[in-house]
Amino acid sequence: MAADPKQGKEQTLGLIKPNAYSKRADIIGLIKKDGFTIAEQKEVTLTRNQVENFYAEHRGKKFYDELCTFMTSGPTIALLLEKADAIKEWRRVMGPTSVETAKKEAPNSIRALYGENVTKNAAHGSDSPESAKREVGFFFHVEDTYAMIKPNAVSHKDAI
Ligand code: GDP
Ligand code: MG
Repeated sequence: MAADPKQGKEQTLGLIKPNAYSKRADIIGLIKKDGFTIAEQKEVTLTRNQVENFYAEHRGKKFYDELCTFMTSGPTIALLLEKADAIKEWRRVMGPTSVETAKKEAPNSIRALYGENVTKNAAHGSDSPESAKREVGFFFHVEDTYAMIKPNAVSHKDAI
């Protein structure tokens, strides 16, 4: 999402994944300590349809089914995060996708601290301005072109 010229801030989507739900207070504390503003926050247990659409870019990969099953296994916290350079900053704070790598290379990162393995890696962050726009819209801006899903309200199939 483009930087807001008024505040010099950028927005990104952060998720606290189901395996880290019980640690949400600690993780939100780290997020605030790192200088992010949480503009909006929502708790949602995602349906299979919602996850399959959210992670559509990974459809066909060998980990896709396991990822979708995990992401429907319990509540997720969706966070609309704001900060200068928020997209890159949030990915830095999360750490690498692989928890093993995170523990070696970024031991204070969220994935190193709260991840269990490469699937249950505690957090999600958008990886580009385009994905941030799509993913923020997915959870928070239902009037947006990309907002095909209202979590906990309707399935993707119902919404389009
Ligand atoms: P991210 O942007 O760092 O979250 O990583 P990706 O977009 O590549 O992958 C999306 C999510 O799929 C990751 O956060 C993991 O939960 C899961 N994932 C990615 N790569 C693998 C893998 O090689 N094996 C397994 N089991 N899960 C993976
Ligand atoms: Mg990704």
